Amino acid sequence: MELSQKENIIYWAKRLYQRQMSPSTSGNISIKTKNSILITASGTCANDLEKDDIVLIDFNGNLVEGNKKPSSEKIMHCEIYTKRDDIGAIIHCHCPVLCAWSVANAPMKMPILPDFAVLFDEIPIVPYYCPSTIELAQVTGEYFEDGCNAVLLQNHGIVLGAVNLKEAFYQLDLIRAYAETWFGAEILGGAKPIRKKEVEELRQLYRKK
Ligand code: 13P
Ligand code: ZN
Repeated sequence: MELSQKENIIYWAKRLYQRQMSPSTSGNISIKTKNSILITASGTCANDLEKDDIVLIDFNGNLVEGNKKPSSEKIMHCEIYTKRDDIGAIIHCHCPVLCAWSVANAPMKMPILPDFAVLFDEIPIVPYYCPSTIELAQVTGEYFEDGCNAVLLQNHGIVLGAVNLKEAFYQLDLIRAYAETWFGAEILGGAKPIRKKEVEELRQLYRKK
């Protein structure tokens, strides 16, 4: 059975919550439709979403359909979609292990795992701006315009854009695996990178697929 777009958001939101990537009422999710954006309402918990907790907005963040207030990060979602035609879904969340990196102001850039190294050169950190502000939205949009598909927000969380929600969730899960593997390796004596030449080989092999 094919899920409706709202059911799709609810399905992946629950998976996000159940993976403990979106605590309490933090974070927000959107997908791009033909002429607008479906986005979670402000203050909703990913595990408890119902269809009327998802509203339609235009690319300037104005409410088009729905009875609830759209996410306070709506302009950040709008900026990313406006800058990147190839992005069809966005997840912003406060996954604790990823927040740890953003709080330590430590960009993820050491190629320690092949699947991560194929997808990402680096997950950079957007400097701290107050959550839900135009400044945060605009600066984050600039990182995506420069080609980033995922960025940490300093002392806040992570934002990731992908072709669809399933892909966005899988990539986020991969970044989380990277973060946890790193912590484990640090306890065991320190993470060692895959050699540069081998990273290049990997990318040639997998990015062609
Ligand atoms: P909303 O509940 O308004 O979507 O905001 C949550 C959040 O993560 C703010 O950065
Ligand atoms: Zn947030």
